[in-house]
Amino acid sequence: MSDEVPIIPPTAKIRLDSDALVANWRALDKMSGKAKAGAAVKANAYGLGVRDVVQKLMAAGCTDFFVANWQEAREIEYLTAGKASVSVLNGVRQADLPFALQSPAKPVINSLEQLARWRPTGKACDIMINSGMNRLGINPENLEADHFVGMAIDIAMSHLASADEDGPQNAAQLDQYRAALEILPAKRNSLANSAGIALGSDYHFDLTRPGLSLYGGVQRPELEAVIEQVAMPQAEIIQVRSLRAGDKLGYNAQYIAEESHDVGILAMGYADGYLRGFSNSGMFADGGIVLPVLGRVSMDLIAIDLTEAPQLKEGDWVDCEYDLGIASSQSGLSQYELITGLGNRLARQWT
Ligand SMILES: *Cc1c(COP(=O)(O)O)cnc(C)c1O
Repeated sequence: MSDEVPIIPPTAKIRLDSDALVANWRALDKMSGKAKAGAAVKANAYGLGVRDVVQKLMAAGCTDFFVANWQEAREIEYLTAGKASVSVLNGVRQADLPFALQSPAKPVINSLEQLARWRPTGKACDIMINSGMNRLGINPENLEADHFVGMAIDIAMSHLASADEDGPQNAAQLDQYRAALEILPAKRNSLANSAGIALGSDYHFDLTRPGLSLYGGVQRPELEAVIEQVAMPQAEIIQVRSLRAGDKLGYNAQYIAEESHDVGILAMGYADGYLRGFSNSGMFADGGIVLPVLGRVSMDLIAIDLTEAPQLKEGDWVDCEYDLGIASSQSGLSQYELITGLGNRLARQWT
């Protein structure tokens, strides 16, 4: 008998396309004009796996990463230390100081309190300006040049609230941000997220901070032709079942067969982030053949219609339709929720 622990093959996984990720970053970097594109890799790189994503983007030339908190900065420190800039967007609490003081990552200073906390350390930081989103950041009217004397400020940033829309808020935020830059002595300026990059060169400054679009999200029509899908969930058929006319399927019988046909049962469900909004509306596929989700999505199981693919059997794999734009309209979830919600039970397989 061997001592090796037997492997347990997954019944559902996410195929992740390295080339598409890198191509998306390159396309966004190019679209950023004279500015360089960084990468928002918070929330485990929007759920895809931060270490793999950072490694691949660094190899492509990305040198600026944005995480939400110090835990996330620590995750990638072995990759980025001395090689890339890491900014901690949620700032620095008193309780973060023991770690932050010995970390090569920089806090994004979000308030005058945080500024007072960080200034005595003499270490580098970034500054967030509130240009109208009213989430984090220092208000422009509270900025004074002598706040920053002797400080090593790398990036002066602000964040767009509605860059996916064409309303007046974008220009208003741009004005507020520009006014703040008159006072703020930073090495580099940065305003645009993914959608902001598509708003044009006025919004680019020195550095852009795409997140969603790196991972396949398309929030504006200008991005449609340049962004490729990165994450493709796939699931194994663990049972094939024949329904007769009148048979009910799944919780609360949300599908009732009108005629006899086969269904495939997949080992994936809302616990994997494939939420109940896909009930009777999601789609799987085998090659070009569409296999609609029937009935309600359960915690660990989904049923798909096999009428158009009668050759499929237990053990075969099918692809989940997860183009973020399409999946968003099927489920009513935002593209951000769809990508960050993919569960840990799904094996991540980079190709
Ligand atoms: C999340 C985030 C980004 C990236 O936004 P996307 O819309 O995903 O491109 C950029 N900047 C800040 C401050 C963020 O919080």
